[in-house]
Formats: sequence, structure tokens, C-alpha cells
Amino acid sequence: MRKPFVAGNWKMNTNGQTSVQLAKRIAEGSAETAGHDVTVAVCPPFVYLQAVTKALSSSSIAVGAQDIYFEPDGAFTGEISPAMLKDTGCTYCLCGHSERRHVIGETDELINKKVAAAISGGLLPILCVGELLSERQASKTNEVITRQLKQGLAGLSAAKLSAVTIAYEPVWAIGTGVTATPEQAQEAHDFIRTLVGRMYNGQVAEEIRILYGGSVKPGNAAELMNCKDIDGLLVGGASLKADDFLAIIQATV
Ligand code: PEP
Repeated sequence: MRKPFVAGNWKMNTNGQTSVQLAKRIAEGSAETAGHDVTVAVCPPFVYLQAVTKALSSSSIAVGAQDIYFEPDGAFTGEISPAMLKDTGCTYCLCGHSERRHVIGETDELINKKVAAAISGGLLPILCVGELLSERQASKTNEVITRQLKQGLAGLSAAKLSAVTIAYEPVWAIGTGVTATPEQAQEAHDFIRTLVGRMYNGQVAEEIRILYGGSVKPGNAAELMNCKDIDGLLVGGASLKADDFLAIIQATV
């Protein structure tokens, strides 16, 4: 039985005050469920990680980073190491979010290094995969997911994979208001679970949590969660509104 998992990606939003306010409202509103019936994490911008971790210290809500760098230290101006993230109280980190792939230009090879470094550093990576609209229209969805998963997880043992969550986020659904239908999402999730089974084994495939992301809102969360292979939700825009995020959390339990 896979416990539902809801993660909020705040992207480059909030400030010192609103990040703490939002975290506290989410903690208050989910005190009955978070950590018990559903894993909940929020991913604020790097600079607010410490303040948000402190604000959530007496709650069961975990904190995640939106990105990570794979080197332990040194001359990498602007980058943040796994140990630094651990130091701020982070549990999770996103790796290969579509905005990092398609806006910043991250490659599968770089993302693979980040996933491996996160695990070695004691963090739990959420590896994001998903196709562009043009790739879906060219019937390349499965090909793209296969490449992103095989390269993103390259070199990771089955034991290490137990630290990983996968997020299927079709790029055409992120921040667009267009959500994949439950059928489209389930088809991709089933494909991912089957592929993980082929890459590792059936037990690993059964245990790994696969989140859906892409314009999740209170109104569509429950029907997505009803799909057999959707284990949780990665939420962008709606995670910035406490009431919406709380309604999404509630829809998963
Ligand atoms: C995301 O940032 O991962 C995301 C899914 O964004 P949105 O919910 O706004 O589409």
C-alpha cells in the first residue's frame, strides 16, 4: 500500500513573510492528516528554506528544495550542495523539473548526477519526467519518458531507488490550466511503473510512488487520485493558496 504524497512547488514565489505565513496555514489546516494518512511536503525557494523549516518544526510537513547541485563543495558559484540542503532541514529535493530542463537547459546526464548526489547526501529526490506537447503529438510520450527515466536513474541500485519518488508532469499541462485527463495520466503512470519493473524488479515497481503534476486543482485532484497508479500530486500554482492546497491534500486521503 503506497501512502499518498502531495508536494507543493512554490517555484520563484513568496517572500520572507508570506513563505512563513503560507507554511503555517498549511500546517494548521492539515494537522490531522499530514504525516499520518498522507505525506506532505512544500518546496520553497532556497532562501526561505530555513525560515519555512523552522515554521514547520512542530508539524509533520516535510520541506523540499526545488533543485540541488551534485558537487559537495567548491567553486560552483550560485549552486547549493546536498549537505547545505540537509543543513537547512530539507528532506526532499526536486530533480529535473520541467522548468529546469526546458528553461534552464538541464540535461538528463546532469539530472542523473543530481539524483545520485541527493541520495548520497541523505535526501529523497523527486525525479520529474514528462513530454512536451510536440512530443505527445508526435506519439513520442513513451519514448521521452523512457529516455528520461533510464538516463535519470542510470547507475542507481534497487536499494537506492527506494529513496526516489517519480513525478510525471506533462510539460503541456504545467502552469497552463490544462490538466491531463485521468486516462492520459493513468496511461503514463502505468507505463512508468511497468518500465521501473523492467529496469529493476516487480517489488520495486509496486513500492515506488509516482506523482502526477500539471495544473492540479481542488476540482480535479480526487479524480486523478482515483487512478490506480497515481500515488500523489505535485502541485505548482495551487500550492501557493493555502485553502486550495489543503483541499488537494484532503482529496488524497
Ligand atoms: C509544477 O510546478 O510542478 C506544476 C505542476 O505546476 P502547476 O501545478 O502550476 O501546473
